[in-house]
Amino acid sequence: MTTNSVEKLRVYIDDRIIGKLDMPLASDETGVVVDLADRLSEHTLDELIWGGWPICPVHHTHPLVAMPGTGSRAWWQCPKDRTEVAAVGQLGLPPPA
Ligand SMILES: [Zn+2]
Repeated sequence: MTTNSVEKLRVYIDDRIIGKLDMPLASDETGVVVDLADRLSEHTLDELIWGGWPICPVHHTHPLVAMPGTGSRAWWQCPKDRTEVAAVGQLGLPPPA
């Protein structure tokens, strides 16, 4: 992925600021989603949710990682076997028909 800009973002949960992200963003849409999901998970939510988030539903021992995957979309993947668990933004939803 190439980067072409730096953005400053504030992260809110329930109207409470939980962190700031100041990072270069990828130049493509999938890369931006992967970057944001990865940074939010690793650098912001890990501090609030011990053990990481989102936890792998297969192994229950590690968090999923955001990666580019099928259909040029950003996916939450298991870091052990690279299974695509859900598209970023679709965790907990039934799989598409
Ligand atoms: Zn796993």
